[in-house]
Parts: sequence; C-alpha cells; structure tokens
Amino acid sequence: MRDNCKLSALQPAVESLEHRLAELTRVHQPLWVYDFDEASIVWANAGALSLWQAESNQELSERDLATGMTPVVMMRLQQYRQDFIRDETARFREYWTLYPNGDPQPVEVLFSAFRRDDGRMSMFCEAQGLERLDNDALRSSQALMHTSVMITLYSASGEPLYRNPAARASVRASDEKLQDHFSEQSAMQRLVRSREPEVNLVASVNVGNGSRWHDISARRCLDAVSGESAWLISEVDVSQLKATQERAHFLAEHDTLTGLPNRNHVSVVLEQRIVQMNARGEQGALIFIDLDHFKDINDSLGHEAGDGLLVEIARRLRCLVGDTDSIARLGGDEFLLLMGPLTDKQSVEGRIRELKHCLSEPMELRGRSVRVTASIGVSLFPADGSNINELMRRADLAMYHVKELGRNEVAYFTDEMSEAVDRRINLESELMVALQEEQFSVCFQPRVDVQTGAIRGAEALVRWLHPERGMVSPADFVPACEDSGLIGELGKFVLTQAVLAQRQWLDSGHRLKVSVNLSPVQFVEETLVEDFIEIVHVNGGDPRLLELEITESVLLGNDQATVGKLQSLVNHGFRIAIDDFGTGYSNLSYLHRYPISCLKIDRSFIAQLDSAQPIIELIISMARLFDLDVVAEGVETASQLQALKAHDCQEYQGFFYAGAVAPSVLAAMLDCDGEVAA
Ligand code: C2E
Ligand code: MG
Ligand code: MG
Repeated sequence: MRDNCKLSALQPAVESLEHRLAELTRVHQPLWVYDFDEASIVWANAGALSLWQAESNQELSERDLATGMTPVVMMRLQQYRQDFIRDETARFREYWTLYPNGDPQPVEVLFSAFRRDDGRMSMFCEAQGLERLDNDALRSSQALMHTSVMITLYSASGEPLYRNPAARASVRASDEKLQDHFSEQSAMQRLVRSREPEVNLVASVNVGNGSRWHDISARRCLDAVSGESAWLISEVDVSQLKATQERAHFLAEHDTLTGLPNRNHVSVVLEQRIVQMNARGEQGALIFIDLDHFKDINDSLGHEAGDGLLVEIARRLRCLVGDTDSIARLGGDEFLLLMGPLTDKQSVEGRIRELKHCLSEPMELRGRSVRVTASIGVSLFPADGSNINELMRRADLAMYHVKELGRNEVAYFTDEMSEAVDRRINLESELMVALQEEQFSVCFQPRVDVQTGAIRGAEALVRWLHPERGMVSPADFVPACEDSGLIGELGKFVLTQAVLAQRQWLDSGHRLKVSVNLSPVQFVEETLVEDFIEIVHVNGGDPRLLELEITESVLLGNDQATVGKLQSLVNHGFRIAIDDFGTGYSNLSYLHRYPISCLKIDRSFIAQLDSAQPIIELIISMARLFDLDVVAEGVETASQLQALKAHDCQEYQGFFYAGAVAPSVLAAMLDCDGEVAA
C-alpha cells in the first residue's frame, strides 16, 4: 500500500489530470491512466471504475497493482514506457486480462502515451469491445504478448506490420525494416532467395545496443489484414549459447594455459599447412621441442612458476614464428613448431640457432633468474615424410635421441633412429615370447671365501637361450626388459629359480646364501615386497639366506617409496648388497642411512688392480667400519686373489674359480668342495 505522504504529494497532479480529462469522465468506454512509477491507476472514468470494480478514483488509485504482478507483465509495462519515450505517437492494441479484485477480465486495450504535467511518461488505456473472446484466442494472444520469443510480421517489401513486445524491445527503431535487421546482408540474402516456405538460420542481427546472435525462423505467409504476402519471423536470442559453443570449441582445440593450439588441433591446422606447402613444392621443418629438466623447476619453484615458464616459452615461440597456427603445445613441456618455406638445410640450421637462442634467454621466475635449455628433434619435409603424423613421429624420435645423448642439443631425424626403435620393438616382442615359452634359465656363480677357498654362496644370473641366436647376454636384454616393463616378471622368475636351487642344495646338505639382482625399475612395482615374500614362502625358502643386489642409483634417488620398500624387505629378513660398488657416486652417507649388509667391489677395479689398489683398500676398510661384508667381483687370476687375501677381503667371484653354472653343476662343486657353510 502506498503511504499517505506520497499520496498527498501526488494530489495536485491528480487534480490537474482530472481537469485535463474532464470531458472523458462520462464516456461509456472504459478509459484510465496508468502511472508506471507508482504501478497504479491515477485516473479512471466511470466505465473504467466499473471494469476495475472500484468504488471511486480514490479507492482505485490506492490499489497497489505491483503486488501480485508477474515479472513478465512488469517487463511488458516497462517495454511500453520505453516504446512511448522513443515514440510518443506509438499506439498498441493488445489483449490483456485484468484481474480486478482477483477476477479475470479479458479486454482489448489500446495503449498510448500520456505525458504527465511533471513531464513523466504515463500510459493512456482505452478498453475496447468487451465481448468475450474464445479461450484459445485469448490464451494465444496472451502468449504472443508475454513470450520472450521475438515475433514480427513484415510485408513482402520488409516494412514491419506487427511486432510483439519482445520484438519491439530488441529492435533499434520501431520502423526498422527487415533488410536493416541483419548485421550481415548475406543472411538476409539467404532468406529472401530461398525457395523454401520456411527458412531457419542463426545470424547476427542489429539490436538496440549492438548486435546479438538470433536463431531465426522465417515463414512466408499472408497478412491477415491486407491478404498480401508477408514474412512471419520469430527469433530467439542464442548469443550466450553461441558464445559457450565457441568457447567449448576453442577449449577443445587449444591449451588453456598458453592459448596455443593443442594436440587435437595439430592434426588439422599443421596438416593443412604441410599439404599446402607440399603442393607448392616448398620445403619445411617440423620441430619437436622438449624442455630439459622442467620437472625440477616445478619441484623447486612451484607449479605456478612452472606455468609461468610455459607461458613465457609460448610467447617467445609466437614472437619467433609470428603466426600462432604454426605452433602447438602437445602437453607438459612439449611444443611443436612448423617452419617453412625453407630453401635448404643451412637455412633450417640458421632458424634453429635462433630458436635455441630465443629459448635460452634468461627469464625472471619468482624473483630468480632462470635459464632453460631444450632437447630439439627435427624432421624435414618432404624428405622425411609428407603427413603430420609421420613427421611428428620422426621429430619425436630425433628428440629422444637428444635426450639419450644428454639433452640440450638438436638432432635431425635419420633412418638409423627408426631402425634402432624397430630393433628394440622386435626385441621386446621376442622377450615376451621368451617369457611365455620359458627360454630363460638361471645359472649360479659361486661366491668363494677368499681365505679358505670354500663356496659361501652364489649369485643368480639369468640366461636367455634364443632359439636362433643361441645364448644372449643379460647386458643385451635386461635394459629392454626394463624399458618394456617385463623386468618385473623376469625378476620374479629369477627369484623363484634361486629359491628352488637353494632348496635343492640344502636337501643335499649345503646351506648357501644366494644373491639375486634387483633392477631399479622393479622398485616401481607396488607389490614388490609382497610378491617377493610370497615367492620365498611358497617355494619353502628362507629370506635370511637371500641377498638382493641393488645398484647405487636406487639409493641416490632418495625416493621415500623405494626406501620404504627396502626397509620392509630387510624387516622380512632379506639382506641387501650394493652391486658394482665404486662405479657410481659412492656416497658414503648412505652406507649408514640405509639397511645395507654387503658391498660388491666392481670388477673394473679388480681388472686394474695396480692402479685401483687404494680404492679397493678404502672400500674394504670402509666396509669393516660399517660392519658390512665385502665381495670382490671378476677375479680372473691367482695374483688378483692373492692381493685380495692381503687386503683381508672376505669373498670373491670370478672366472678364476668358476663362471655362472647350472644348479646341478654347482651342487657337484659343493660336493667336491666338501665344505658345508654354517
Ligand atoms: P652383475 O650383477 O655385476 O653380474 C656379474 C657379471 O659379471 C655377470 O655377467 C658375470 O657372468 C660376470 N662375471 C663373473 N665373473 C667374471 C669374471 O671373472 N670376469 C668377467 N669379465 N666377468 C665376470 P652377466 O651374467 O653377463 O650379467 C651381466 C649383468 O646383467 C649383471 O651384472 C647384472 O647387472 C645383470 N643381470 C644378470 N642377471 C640378472 C637378473 O637376473 N636380474 C637383473 N635385474 N639383472 C641381471
Ligand atoms: Mg650382480
Ligand atoms: Mg656386479
């Protein structure tokens, strides 16, 4: 309800209204003035009072019409106000349902502008023909008025004949013609040239404050009044949907961090450019860039700094190439660059020097000056291929070649790189067959007491009897097993054989400790510890008689998961030896930090005994200090053994005593030896 102060403030205006409209008071047709700001009827004649079921003007003006008004109706009323401000001569004839005292009263109303004495815009309403419409006609007219779908009837020449309120709200001027409605004339052309009775299109149209995307349905029809041909056009604003679609499309093809095209886009955009250049007989280069040690930046300066670095690299690449469609971020720290046309290899080399220079310029990250290097692989077209997939694969191979050689270099694809990969793939599939067909066996090299010459233990060494190539050295196939993930299976096989052999020797009275090599890659396996315990348990072995040989690299990684697994193995009774000791970093601190029980001096020291003497002495005394066993590897001569005796080394392995032999051969040696280890 309005308060009385407001009402009294309006009083002079109402008086003047009545004065102005005095002649209309007695007109039978319902007439009234609606005040937009007050949402109330500020003047009504007798006919309107009866229509609104009001006793007096005073009572009617005090009705708060805003209460209970739906938002759609409010919007429409505001629309009328805008229409009248724009064009004071405008008149609209529409069907409305009034609700005097909640009672629905359908009426046809003619609305026109009514300027108040204080200059504000109100609306003069004339209700016409109160004969009842049938319900469907009434509802459809209401729907037309309140819908957000913009509906316009144009004459065949494009003059507007009718606009519903939603359409009126969207256009720049009430007399705007159909041909002025579209932002692009091509859309208009499509519409008028079409021979179809209905045309559907999404087009950019002019609206009051710029342009919007409308989903338009245009239908040829006849104007119900003149009978002449006309266009009935309905429009829905789909700008937001269109923007969302465009964004989704962009995101699907671009990397959000750098804004560069992503891997999905490469096959389209770069492929197109390569096809075009090939067709013109031009040469180009596809360049695979992988940043070196990017993970270290992330780890030391944080992911935000890492992101900053990638954005900066993308910016530099854009500057260098000047064209975003020639660059892509493939993911992580990998970028792809298309260069061309290039005249010869010298010009490629020149451009790549520029690229390296531009990447290696220092950049500021979290207050620190950081320099990055990159491993770069290049494939040239048409020489190395003519489609993007082939060229990418080859540039990638060249890049991997650089990584293997030690990073921060450029490599051009060569056929040998492909052949090396083919060989590796062949080897890996052969190894898979070898595991299934049991082509592997395990031999044992005795570990001998330096002082007494008695066999104290044995090292399990895997052997591969290839059906065509004969015996293949583990040095040739263990790395391939590590790369392909087969090492886990192979490792379990070797441990099983080691336990079985150990049992066999024990049955004939020889209690031997057996060492088994453990690849660093095996530590990646989540279930390593459980698997090992189970193998020993199932085959009736004793973990305390098993020593696992690891390399120094396993300890250097300082990876908590690895350390946890090592400790867990030790807790279950396994012993740990460091293999090839002295060849790695030989960081002494890990000798007391990790649960190690044995050092195996690398055979290269034994082979060069004279020059390596001080190192051997150092290793043996260090082992004594930390209470570790020491085994010398690769003893081939009596003088080498003599030297080890002099240095008080505990055990040795080597061809001087025996190479790796089958378990039964070792059993025979043990019998000859006559020595039974405690
Ligand atoms: P490693 O663990 O250091 O094994 C010792 C290697 O030295 C063995 O070569 C052995 O045959 C060889 N050797 C023994 N005595 C002498 C000697 O007096 N002179 C010379 N020149 N060499 C001697 P093998 O069997 O070819 O194994 C090579 C490497 O392959 C092993 O080095 C080990 O790193 C790996 N390897 C062997 N078996 C396995 C296995 O079951 N699992 C894993 N992960 N790696 C294995
Ligand atoms: Mg070994
Ligand atoms: Mg070794």
